[in-house]
Amino acid sequence: MLNGSKALLPRLSLGIEISSSINILELFSDKKEAVEICLELGKKFPEVLGYSDSVNKWVDLALNGFKSSKFPDLQVSFNKIDEHLKLRTFLIGNSITLADAITWAALKSVPVWNKNFKDANKAIGSEIYRWFAYLGAQEPFARAQSMQQEEAAKLKEKKKDQGSFEIGLENAEMGKVVTRFPPEPSGYLHIGHAKAALLNEFFAKKYQGKLLLRFDDTNPTKEKCEFEESIIEDLALLGIKGDSLSHTSDYFDQLYDLAIKMIQAGLAYCDDTPLEQMRAERFDGIPSKNRDNSVEENLRRFEEMKQGTEFGLTNCLRAKIDMKANNKALRDPVMYRCNLTPHHRVDDKWKIYPTYDFACPVVDSIEGVTHALRTDEYHDRNDQYYWFIDALKLRKPFIWDYSRLSFIFTFLSKRKLTWFVNSGRVTGWDDPRFPTVRGIRRRGMTVDALREYILMQGASKNAVMLEWDKIWAVNKRIIDPVSPRYVALNKENLCKVILTDGPKEAYTSKVPRHKKNTELGEKETSYSDHLFIEHEDAATLEVSEEITLMDWGNVIIEDVQRESNNLVVQVIAKLHLEGDFKKTKKKLTWLSPDPAELISVDIHDYDYLITKKKLEEEDNLEDCLTPVTEFVTHAIGDANLASLQKGDIIQLERKGFFICDRPHSAESRLQLITIPDGKAKSIGSKHAD
Ligand code: ATP
Ligand code: MG
Repeated sequence: MLNGSKALLPRLSLGIEISSSINILELFSDKKEAVEICLELGKKFPEVLGYSDSVNKWVDLALNGFKSSKFPDLQVSFNKIDEHLKLRTFLIGNSITLADAITWAALKSVPVWNKNFKDANKAIGSEIYRWFAYLGAQEPFARAQSMQQEEAAKLKEKKKDQGSFEIGLENAEMGKVVTRFPPEPSGYLHIGHAKAALLNEFFAKKYQGKLLLRFDDTNPTKEKCEFEESIIEDLALLGIKGDSLSHTSDYFDQLYDLAIKMIQAGLAYCDDTPLEQMRAERFDGIPSKNRDNSVEENLRRFEEMKQGTEFGLTNCLRAKIDMKANNKALRDPVMYRCNLTPHHRVDDKWKIYPTYDFACPVVDSIEGVTHALRTDEYHDRNDQYYWFIDALKLRKPFIWDYSRLSFIFTFLSKRKLTWFVNSGRVTGWDDPRFPTVRGIRRRGMTVDALREYILMQGASKNAVMLEWDKIWAVNKRIIDPVSPRYVALNKENLCKVILTDGPKEAYTSKVPRHKKNTELGEKETSYSDHLFIEHEDAATLEVSEEITLMDWGNVIIEDVQRESNNLVVQVIAKLHLEGDFKKTKKKLTWLSPDPAELISVDIHDYDYLITKKKLEEEDNLEDCLTPVTEFVTHAIGDANLASLQKGDIIQLERKGFFICDRPHSAESRLQLITIPDGKAKSIGSKHAD
């Protein structure tokens, strides 16, 4: 459908020229209709769109000349255009007309042409090549091209991700599905946990079932209330509440009773084999010397474990499954171990704690979980999970594996994250360099982008190392239309501009915060006859050149004054506000220090904490640390920046997107954090490889 084509008519009558006709041609997927509307408009506004009867000939070629996908057929049409352009710059007359626009758009939708054009295969014809490239570089054509590319990228993204959620859960009944998210309260939520939580929530919703939140608190050495609180808060941020909240510790009594039952049934035994030896025996399939101890001996030892006696502490309780099993997870896994550290909820009531392997199937079953989603590194443990369920004659949940989320240059292990926090190499769990939900949010990731990206990854089972580009690109797409625009210039790079006929009296005037989104309101911009621009821009200026000062208008450069080292120290220019900003190549950002005062800004940017794309288990973390991971530049910005609040996301014109980390105040300069935009420069390791 040709959305927007109707709305275009009144805009055209306001004198928005040929560029608008391109808006129509962007819709060239429905060629015939697009062209018809173009022609209709052309007839109505012949002077604007350069319509003449000879346009029709080109329309005919556009509609009929590129239908074949065979190169020789297409070449006939290419040659026609090439021949015609031998003595001409444009198809008709001396300027761009509808004929050029239509033909260009038609070519643009021919895959063979694009491929050859991309490979700079001038063999197709050098004139057509020249003409096509020239048009492509013109503003409206370039814009149409980038829109088309964006559309194509979105489509590709969609295609790739489609289907991931078409995988259903087996034996899922509408209204009866119960999933659960079981974090251990031993750290803050990271992006991998976010995937687990969002997937569980997704399936609960999809089947109109329930999502249980359960703190898997079976290791008092690592767990804290602080972590529980933060996890609940972070889940809320992701829009996840859960239908109920429980703790594995709620079931300690039941788990204990079941353990006793298993000992009595000869399905579990206590073992005081030293840890290393036990590990080796499990690896080699050698049964422990305690494997065939009597039930009484096992009950006695388990009681000693429960009391935390010296001998008790040397024991653990193991399931008696199969020491010869090929699946090593079945070689008598540990069910209970001792720990004297007081538990953050039940204090010192227990000196023995169930392992994840034992507690998880039992509690899943008791709590009514129908589908247990697990990351697939647990795949080998599925048989073990079912063994416990069968041994205890419990109701059987279905296990559903999905792949663990992992990113390059990123570690998600809580042990490593904790090391960074404790060693002071980051400022806390919400450090912008951290892959925690808090960290990436502080860096400017929106919850919408996070959700969208993770659900897009979906239930894919391929364990891939993800790049960070995609997620930040999704984020940029979300923030771009709603981020107000401001200006800041690098403080160390300021160059003065004197406007000889500039306003003698400095004044302010209101301009929109975002040209395409008036809902964001207006901001005050200061105007005076003495401005700042950045050295990099100043260095490119030439005398007599006409350039545009963004949000003001054109100026003509009168003098570029350089120091002996060639650095531009001052530019003299005069206003030329009647000049057409569409015709200038350079659109510069600038700031007037009067009448409103400029604001000092610190802009933070970060590098990855580690230098390796993928940390291996055997890697020593300290050998892989990036030496410098924070970079601060000083800038001055327009007075509007003074009102930014923590968490506000903005664009600094021509610099990118930033999030306010600390507002401007009497005590502190404004602190902004650079938001990666998904482009290579923003997500690559800054530390040379
Ligand atoms: P760590 O090993 O660092 O302690 P964990 O995976 O054991 O992390 P838990 O708190 O036990 O952390 O995890 C809660 C849930 O989140 C589990 O279901 C776990 O499988 C899932 N999860 C953890 N990391 C990831 C990840 N990178 N991708 C997907 N799911 C994850
Ligand atoms: Mg875990």
